[in-house]
Amino acid sequence: MRGLLSGVLSCLERERLEDELSEARTRGRNLSRLRQLTRPERVALDQRETAAQARLSDHDAEHGCQR
Ligand SMILES: [Zn+2]
Repeated sequence: MRGLLSGVLSCLERERLEDELSEARTRGRNLSRLRQLTRPERVALDQRETAAQARLSDHDAEHGCQR
């Protein structure tokens, strides 16, 4: 059990997942700015972002640190 006062900032796992998500988003944005992405590339980037988003939601649901 975590302490009652352990809030959002103290959850390192959540921080890591947020980093992952923003990294996926940034990478997709940067790449598509540089050149036209092929369809598989776009799909892969989308999947990566969606997966990161899902992991974050799962974490929130299971861990309950984001309230
Ligand atoms: Zn957490």
